[in-house]
Amino acid sequence: KEFTEISLKDIDQVAHSSFPLCMRHLFEKLRENHHLKHGGRMQLGLFLKGVGLNLEDALVFWKAEFSKKVGAERFDKEYAYTVRHNYGKEGKRTDYTPYGCQKIISSTPGVGDHHGCPYRHFSEDNLRAALGKMGVSGRALDDIIEKARKQHYQLACTLTFEAIHATSCDSGINHPNLYFSESQKILQP
Ligand code: SF4
Repeated sequence: KEFTEISLKDIDQVAHSSFPLCMRHLFEKLRENHHLKHGGRMQLGLFLKGVGLNLEDALVFWKAEFSKKVGAERFDKEYAYTVRHNYGKEGKRTDYTPYGCQKIISSTPGVGDHHGCPYRHFSEDNLRAALGKMGVSGRALDDIIEKARKQHYQLACTLTFEAIHATSCDSGINHPNLYFSESQKILQP
């Protein structure tokens, strides 16, 4: 199987240990604001589907957060559809695949949006702070910032992976779900 599976009870722990920065950011913002705009719901929602969160758990997960903001009823009316839609259960019943880095990097998040690639879309100060929170510091941090500055976003992400996992990642990161599965391979072999 391509991706490791996760269950709802482990989600905070694996988000902390194995999500790439783009998904950690969305995850934290969702927990903080109990809401994400459309672009964020798509980017994180499809990623979570890719890491093996099943539809039933996904509905519980999104509803628990959104209910705190908009209420359970409005979630059922306005948002549950999108979750099911991502799993191919509504509309054209397309089974949507998680976004790769290129698509995320070339997205254009607006004000109040939290999707996108932090290596491209964060200010340098915010990127430094976010990496610091992930436990990256010193020379490694400077190298990552330098790569991001030179617009080598996926390389910056690969260096982050290597710094956090204290190992090399020769294949490089070109997909958030690859970041996740490579991380899980190391942490839960
Ligand atoms: Fe996410 Fe890819 Fe950017 Fe890494 S390089 S933060 S996986 S979009």
